[in-house]
Amino acid sequence: MTQAILIIEDEPSIADTLIYALEREGFVPTRVATLAEARAAVGAHAYAAIVLDVGLPDGNGFDFCRDLRRDHATPILFLTSRNDEVDRIVGLEIGADDYITKPFSPREVAARLKAVLRRAVQPAVNGTPEFFQIDAGKRCIIFRGNALELSRYEYGILNLLLRRPGQVYSRQQIMQHVWPDPDMSLERTVDTHIKTIRNKLKRIADEEILLTHRGVGYSIKDGR
Ligand code: CA
Repeated sequence: MTQAILIIEDEPSIADTLIYALEREGFVPTRVATLAEARAAVGAHAYAAIVLDVGLPDGNGFDFCRDLRRDHATPILFLTSRNDEVDRIVGLEIGADDYITKPFSPREVAARLKAVLRRAVQPAVNGTPEFFQIDAGKRCIIFRGNALELSRYEYGILNLLLRRPGQVYSRQQIMQHVWPDPDMSLERTVDTHIKTIRNKLKRIADEEILLTHRGVGYSIKDGR
């Protein structure tokens, strides 16, 4: 399956590197250099993912991301300058799926993009239990009519578990799907996030929804 990727980047040398790297991996990249062109492009075509530079001639990538998130769940990979912590945090908070710091290796971009796309695959087998609703565009999960206030990782974990209720995910599988750098993180941080999510659910309804399978992993109770 060929996947169309929109690259929004004003520096020709970086854009060329990206196009080359993505084409080599079988993606079909389209490149634009301004936000105006980007808006026209997303209005006219469906893209599997977007690679977005922060500093663009006619504005800021963050604004574009915020606007897009109002009605698109398209995965976004930010390109940030140097090691700008603020850029990274802002990008993730406003709905980017991952970021990559310049200078980057083309192979790393392709790998990150694949990871982002893997996480974005939606089809649910059993269906979301009826007491949950997911607004992927707003990255919001509603439980029994209450919008949950979730951190980025909590959202990622719960969203993953909800795709296949009843399916048990190991800590390692959860990290592979949710963390940008699974190798750099500790599996017990998954436990910590699970505990927080469980507390947030229990505040709304005192029932066993997020199940622990000792020595195996976690699942969401099948709602049917
Ligand atoms: Ca730029």
